[in-house]
Amino acid sequence: MKTAICAFCAQTGMLCKDCQTKLNSGEITETDVTIAKIAVEFEKEFPNAAKVTILKTIERPSFVLILLTPGSIRFLTGGRADFDVRVERALHKKVKLMEKSKNLRKVVDNIFAPALISGINTIFVPVRSPKPGQPSVEEETIIILPEAEREKLPASIDELVALVKLISGEDIRVEFR
Ligand SMILES: [Zn+2]
Repeated sequence: MKTAICAFCAQTGMLCKDCQTKLNSGEITETDVTIAKIAVEFEKEFPNAAKVTILKTIERPSFVLILLTPGSIRFLTGGRADFDVRVERALHKKVKLMEKSKNLRKVVDNIFAPALISGINTIFVPVRSPKPGQPSVEEETIIILPEAEREKLPASIDELVALVKLISGEDIRVEFR
């Protein structure tokens, strides 16, 4: 598995100069190092996990999101494979595994789970144009959830909106109806 630290460091559990520098500068975190060590052990039991690349870990007070290359999750979970559970045990935090995707619906479904969204609407809102006399519009994406799903949200709405922005680059707004 490709992780935030080099293969040598993940194997030995000690950090080389390059990886230590990344840690000191904040480019990577202790969480990344912990996950890399778990990844090495995991791969010994589940060799297919070698196909996986961890692109990014995003740590929040209530959970850790691990962003993976597309198609990765099937090598990490299912059957006896329990990569997420191992990381949860080590970090004492909920872990969400997520594959990078350009499909906004997929990204949103994943980030908002276990809450179920009922729809995504794109509306066009008029904005002030830089050139007078030329009307201008901006796309706005609204995520709609039934009120009953509110309590199932895995984090605050602000946090979820920020995560969607980070992963897909899209600005969203959340509405309950
Ligand atoms: Zn290293």
